Amino acid sequence: MRKLILAAAAVGIALIILTSQQLISGELHIPAESQDNPRLEVVATYSVICDLVRQVAGGRAVVHSLVPPGVDPHTYEPTPADLLQVTAADGVFYHGMDLELWFDRFMSATGGKSEVWEVSEGVQPLSIEGGAYAGYPDPHAWMDVTLVQKYVENIYRGLVELDPSGRKIYRENADRYLRELAELDAWIRRRVREIPPENRLLLTSENAFQYFARTYDFSILGYIYHLAPEDEPPARRITGLVDAAREAGLPAIFAETTLEPRIMQQIAAETGAELIDDIYVDSLGPEGSDADTYVRMMRHNVQRFVQGLGE
Ligand SMILES: [Zn+2]
Repeated sequence: MRKLILAAAAVGIALIILTSQQLISGELHIPAESQDNPRLEVVATYSVICDLVRQVAGGRAVVHSLVPPGVDPHTYEPTPADLLQVTAADGVFYHGMDLELWFDRFMSATGGKSEVWEVSEGVQPLSIEGGAYAGYPDPHAWMDVTLVQKYVENIYRGLVELDPSGRKIYRENADRYLRELAELDAWIRRRVREIPPENRLLLTSENAFQYFARTYDFSILGYIYHLAPEDEPPARRITGLVDAAREAGLPAIFAETTLEPRIMQQIAAETGAELIDDIYVDSLGPEGSDADTYVRMMRHNVQRFVQGLGE
């Protein structure tokens, strides 16, 4: 045993000598951006915001999402581990516009000392028209890529306040990502033209597509929940959706991954429309899926719309 410890100590010393020699000779490469700044620890409330913050922060921050992928972020119940993570973090980025209905209470439970940035600041909200949250802002503004460009500027400003010496790197990352978003926006507009105008109709689980429809020339035919998940909708509401889908001759309806698809399955069965049930709105797809970043999630959704509604 003693021998083993001595051997381990010898390896340790050898490593230290090797490392310091490499440092002196300049062989050991340490990225310039991490030389005088320890990496930031940043928390984002859910997976979409987590990805956007990562895009701007690059290698200077480790970003954690509180709400895991696949879980509804509106009514999430934070855990004691979330509380510890926020208390230990350098800063917190949240969506705002009442997306995270739990956020204010949670932040006061953490002691309210964290630096906090609202990513959607400056976006003009549309409003929720009915149900338990009537009159609240509709938070799903990230479904319009042109509004996410605003989010990116807010994230940039937040990171610079947290870590002023990273300004140049954050600006470069933000500009690169803004170019990527401009390409995404143009790509969506091109793909949507493949769908005949009379078919650009969305029937979805949640009314999460108001911003998307406004910018990309769709109409909302209907939805089950105003802001999900709400109480079970009355039967006449489902009958109304079935009638509307039949009347429009709708070839496909769409369900989001964070919501239970049972009622959508019922509507599909009654109308003969195809149910496409892997639309991502309130969560990215799992790591390694074709929707594991914001850009990939938007491309995935638009492919599905074209597949379901195009000719
Ligand atoms: Zn939602």
